[in-house]
Amino acid sequence: MKITSVTCHVLLDPGADPNATSSALDDLVVEIHTDDGLVGVGETDTNPWVARAFIDSVGTHTMGLGLEEMIVGADPLDTDALWERMYIGSAMSGRRGSGICAMGAIDMALWDIRGKAAGKPCWQLIGDAAHDRITPYASLQPEGDDAATYTRSLIEWLGKARSIGFAAAKLEVTPFGPYAHQKLRGDDDTVVEIVTACREAIGPDFTLMVDVQYAWSDARRALKTLKRLEPLDLFFIETPLWIDDLDGYAYLHDHLDMRIAVGEWQTTRFEFADLMDRGGIDVAQPDVGRVGGLTEAMKVCEMAAERERLIVPHCWKTAIGIAASVHMAATTPHCPYVEFLPADLCDSALRRDLTVHDVPMIDGSIPLPDAPGLGVELDPDALARFDAGRNIS
Ligand SMILES: [Mg+2]
Repeated sequence: MKITSVTCHVLLDPGADPNATSSALDDLVVEIHTDDGLVGVGETDTNPWVARAFIDSVGTHTMGLGLEEMIVGADPLDTDALWERMYIGSAMSGRRGSGICAMGAIDMALWDIRGKAAGKPCWQLIGDAAHDRITPYASLQPEGDDAATYTRSLIEWLGKARSIGFAAAKLEVTPFGPYAHQKLRGDDDTVVEIVTACREAIGPDFTLMVDVQYAWSDARRALKTLKRLEPLDLFFIETPLWIDDLDGYAYLHDHLDMRIAVGEWQTTRFEFADLMDRGGIDVAQPDVGRVGGLTEAMKVCEMAAERERLIVPHCWKTAIGIAASVHMAATTPHCPYVEFLPADLCDSALRRDLTVHDVPMIDGSIPLPDAPGLGVELDPDALARFDAGRNIS
């Protein structure tokens, strides 16, 4: 079997707003076509025009090649070799960041083809099942420009998440810092008050994570407030510091009795080695599309196992990326949760409608996939409807 072409779809939700913090409103979806007629699907979470340029661009020298031209004519089942070929051949402009994100979409689609060719779900090509079912946590998108409204909104979302079967959810609590939510502004006390109110409302028998989205620029100040969150039994605190402050992360790790989760933006196993070995983080959060696809994500899972860290993948895109996370989790014993942006709790029509079926959640968990490949099917009408050319204003 040979790869014949790669189609890139730059997608945009009509409601997309450059001032919004959610990345669920755009997408770069690739379809890889083969001479057998099999088509693989993948997606990634970065600026979709940038990722498309990496794939479509024309090479000018051996370390500055385009991704599509490097893989056309190759055997799509040879995922390890193709990963290396793309990594080396794009090294001068790629190697980290968006180039790897673009490779991630392609690698995901190659795994989809591998599964379809073998008639097996992708996870069965990776290894044995490590779980009977996969446990999702809900990522909540609260609203409100003041702390009281924001807290009420979070508590409402928590109730909805529990009513549709979730036993775990992540609170986005960002009253300051680079990701400060909408018009909500507050200080360290605001963080403690919001999280305390949510814990009191949902009770002790519900797993809570908190994402402050790189809020603090100083590890010592962060520690003071995070110490006040310790009694609230959080499963982890996500990205308390700016991503490049690895020494700050190591300081927090040494002084805090709470897991620290980082990794949503990271590309390649090399950046995760830095996070784990220098930053001392407890929970690695590879996003399958961003980190470089399933091939690279599984290497990060192995590294985490060697270091006795947990894996809880980041995923903020459609059922394509969620499915890829589920296949990764299926064979990873140290992956207790996957992030799941439930269609019912999501205001992105692109997230809801791009695939024919959503990843199923039954009684609060996701069954191990049994369809060949990733097990997702694109809705052709949705592909046309969300085409960025139609929705850019
Ligand atoms: Mg986050």
